[in-house]
Amino acid sequence: MPSKAEQLEQIKADILEKNVCPDLAKTAKQLVMGDGHPDADIVFIGEAPGKNEDEQGLPFVGAAGKFLDEMLASVGLERKDIFITNIVKYRPPNNRDPLPEEKREFWPYLARQLEIIEPKVIVTLGRHSMEFFLPEAKISQIHGQPKRLPVKLHGGKETSWVILPLYHPAAALYNGGMRQTLIDDFAGVRTIIDKY
Ligand code: URA
Repeated sequence: MPSKAEQLEQIKADILEKNVCPDLAKTAKQLVMGDGHPDADIVFIGEAPGKNEDEQGLPFVGAAGKFLDEMLASVGLERKDIFITNIVKYRPPNNRDPLPEEKREFWPYLARQLEIIEPKVIVTLGRHSMEFFLPEAKISQIHGQPKRLPVKLHGGKETSWVILPLYHPAAALYNGGMRQTLIDDFAGVRTIIDKY
């Protein structure tokens, strides 16, 4: 049985082989698959790589990433303790929002990452990644509140995922009220991991 790290690496090979989102592949420098521990208890999911991420091949390495690192440190976590990724694995040109069909195309690969890592808690950062798990939800109403979601995995196995919707650090960075809300929600992350 290949290790979790090897299984995650295989997803990258499959995306390249299937030529997922060929238009994005043409304009992006590289795939940004994710970073962190392949056996993490907590997975963070953002939207799509930006310029810095595209250049370095790693998620959340720009200003939003630095803010995220500070919040992780405030609850005693480091990047190596968690896994972090995005729905869309290529940078959209000029940092435009990912299109619904781009998110749909990348979704099965994100689902495979989650199936391999088997985290206790999935933190969605911002509306774009929350919508995939909780399509009816409004982030302003449910941020910071964990929700348990029944899921059927690829092999048919039934399980459940705990989703914790948070505001996106890039949106919160320059909005004082949202920034404080995100910091307050983050303070509960440790308790939530310990509970589930
Ligand atoms: N914003 C995201 O959603 N993802 C990144 O990787 C960086 C910024």
